[in-house]
Amino acid sequence: MERVLHFIDGAFVPSEDGRTFDNLNPATGERIGTVAEGGRAEIDKAVRAARRAFRTWSRTTAQERAAILHRIANLIEENLEELALLETTDTGKPLSLAKSLDIPRSAYNFRFFADFVKGLSTETFEMEGVALNYALRRPVGVAGLISPWNLPLFLLTWKVAPCLAAGNTCVIKPAELTPTTATKLAEICKQAGVPDGVVNVVHGFGPDAAGQFLTEHEDVDLISLTGETTTGKAVMRSAASTLKRLSFELGGKNPNIVFADCDFEDAIATTVRSSFVNQGEVCLCGSRIYVERPLYDRFVEALVDRARKLRVGDPLDPQTDVGSLISEEHLERVHGFVRRAVEQGGRVLVGGKRPEHLKRGAFYEPTVIVDVDETCEITRQEVFGPVVTVQPFDTEEEVIRLANDTHYGLSATLWTSNLKRAHRVAGELEAGVIWVNTWFLRDLRTPFGGMKQSGIGREGGVHSFEFFTELKNVCIKL
Ligand code: NDP
Repeated sequence: MERVLHFIDGAFVPSEDGRTFDNLNPATGERIGTVAEGGRAEIDKAVRAARRAFRTWSRTTAQERAAILHRIANLIEENLEELALLETTDTGKPLSLAKSLDIPRSAYNFRFFADFVKGLSTETFEMEGVALNYALRRPVGVAGLISPWNLPLFLLTWKVAPCLAAGNTCVIKPAELTPTTATKLAEICKQAGVPDGVVNVVHGFGPDAAGQFLTEHEDVDLISLTGETTTGKAVMRSAASTLKRLSFELGGKNPNIVFADCDFEDAIATTVRSSFVNQGEVCLCGSRIYVERPLYDRFVEALVDRARKLRVGDPLDPQTDVGSLISEEHLERVHGFVRRAVEQGGRVLVGGKRPEHLKRGAFYEPTVIVDVDETCEITRQEVFGPVVTVQPFDTEEEVIRLANDTHYGLSATLWTSNLKRAHRVAGELEAGVIWVNTWFLRDLRTPFGGMKQSGIGREGGVHSFEFFTELKNVCIKL
């Protein structure tokens, strides 16, 4: 996509002032094209279009909306190759991953919420002989949907699908680094019969720019953000003056706890994935690995060996396991964390640098660091790259304390074949999503979201509709 435009009221348009910014392919450093840079004028226009469209879209039936959502899912599937290539070119992620995960899941997000909305119910309460109460579920209005760059279409559709299914309209602000699949989605929505103004996309930057203008706009009712914890704090501040409804999926520093009685092969194979898939740029990655001491040496040795064997390189090569990070700037940030970990006594057992065989692109080797503790920056801050730390532990109490010693609380993984311990530890861990003997296994009906500073609210199944709908109680005297 050489020229990425906004999508406002059913039409692709440039910015009023003609401003653009460059879109780069991080795996080559080459410029892919230009992106329209939206400002207040574009956000205003998009919000006005969404408000107008809300009058009719909110009055369609769930059946009608579900049919359109299924058409969107069909079109995503039909356009899988193109969408996957756009995603890979924007992000540097392996094309094989975009084809097998990002795009199929994006289609499924629409199918899932299309089906779910048809079965949504509300409660009735009878005051016997006196009155009957029933609740009506209604869409809220215009939603601002702000998405990150790591799983661009996957995470955007996780918002757009329930938003539309519930009868809201939206203004999307994709991450500035990954604008193309959101733009293609707009085209697909139009093709699927989504009325003009229901879905709008405005490109641009976050702070003091399109993102912020959207969050402070007085005619936007809800904001759903996936991004960094610091961004959540900024958005909360700017949304406060109009008291918007907020849903935040934010950062994580997720513990991966391995007890000595685990299924070793399963634990190690999944840990390689939960550490390095998508270059470690997944909010759910288990970046703090705690291994029970009797297993520690064997586990570290196997992890280092497998990390070394991962093929880092051209995202278009089907053999590639680890692609490029999102940008040179992000690579410098990731490397800064590794450098400071070493200064604080950490030992890099594998990785910690750019691969020598790649002469260009933001590539970074899968990295395993040991000899750090809970006082080190690397075990406390989210790195969001292919970097994990491994620490030994001796007791269940100790590892629970270490795992919970963070202001994040997104997810946690634990490996054990002791059922009682699994229940006990899962009950103690402070995280919104806990996996036992697995990772990233998702049933979209379940609540998804973070505790502490990893988020506000839950998404998935009925929880998404709790956010995207209002309940209105009607009390009828008998
Ligand atoms: P950012 O927080 O930098 O950006 C997320 C989105 O918010 C982007 O569209 C960004 O625009 C926008 N934004 C930034 N500042 C503001 C602002 N002041 N007002 C309004 N919008 C703003 O996150 P990243 O894109 O870097 O994504 C990585 C982060 O996302 C990690 O912390 C990761 O853990 C988290 N994440 C959480 C998930 C979860 O489910 N909990 C899932 C995936 C990622 P722009 O890009 O133009 O700056």
